[in-house]
Amino acid sequence: MSLLGSIRDSLAKTRAGLFGAVAAAVSGKRALSPDELAALEERLLLADVGLAATERLLAAVREGPADQDAAARLRAGMRAVLDGAPPAREDGAAAAGPRVWLIAGVNGSGKTTSAGKLSHLLRSAGRAVMLAAADTYRAAAAEQLRLWADRTGADFIGSRPGADPAGVAFDAVSAAAARGSDVLLVDTAGRLHTQRHLRDELAKVRSAIAKRLPGAPHRTLLVLDGTAGQNGLSQARLFSEAVPIDGIILTKLDGTAKGGVVLAIAEELKIPVAYVGTGEGPGDLRPFDAGEFVDGLIPRTADGGA
Ligand code: GDP
Repeated sequence: MSLLGSIRDSLAKTRAGLFGAVAAAVSGKRALSPDELAALEERLLLADVGLAATERLLAAVREGPADQDAAARLRAGMRAVLDGAPPAREDGAAAAGPRVWLIAGVNGSGKTTSAGKLSHLLRSAGRAVMLAAADTYRAAAAEQLRLWADRTGADFIGSRPGADPAGVAFDAVSAAAARGSDVLLVDTAGRLHTQRHLRDELAKVRSAIAKRLPGAPHRTLLVLDGTAGQNGLSQARLFSEAVPIDGIILTKLDGTAKGGVVLAIAEELKIPVAYVGTGEGPGDLRPFDAGEFVDGLIPRTADGGA
């Protein structure tokens, strides 16, 4: 079945880039020649799989079980890389008070759109959602978030330009509790004068939320632009220094041939990809599924096996 905006569809460019040239080489063959291995390595690096994961995948292809062809070994290697990161925790627990999800990421990564799509996903599951604009620097960002709230039937908490983001987040938790919201999504600033300011502010927002509701935020999600490739890895490292990141939302998978960055993230950061963005519409956000991802990159063949 091919769903519009599915992970498989959004991987079309990456799949073509990765396998356009090497499909013949990897499927059906037990052993690859040095030239074929080198071609595969080049393709993996071009798809932004990163050095570390590429080395593991090549080792899997060279040393995998004798009864598997190279494609099956590559698939198994990808699964092993993805399974090396802890699984993305679902946040279904129904303790008293709202579940608070903090959304971080640099401007342009697709942060506001992803908050809107998350709202859609949660609303579709029958949850009461509140969106809070704690990016008090960009009036346009707050306005965009308000539109997403309207569009998805969520409540919205705005802020005055220049207001203290930690105070806005604190008040938003109170508002969500008063309203009986199930999930509060807090959108944060994506650009400040320096990276240090950005980190400090995020940490402040996080502690204000924890002060108002012990145990919160229950999830801290980092939005990364899937087209930014390796640059996304440095952003993730930077944000991780400020707050513990539980999961990544990788956006614009549909617009890139570099979807292999998912493997680099798992291998190098050990942070799970929780969701992927597969388009610009409200429904274009999918919970990440390692099996679906690997199938999307290397189609299963009749003889290719598991
Ligand atoms: P922010 O500055 O991080 O809040 O970024 P926005 O949410 O405004 O998104 C920046 C642009 O990326 C907008 O044009 C979005 O429609 C687009 N965008 C976000 N996510 C996706 C995605 O998964 N796929 C595609 N194709 N575009 C996306």
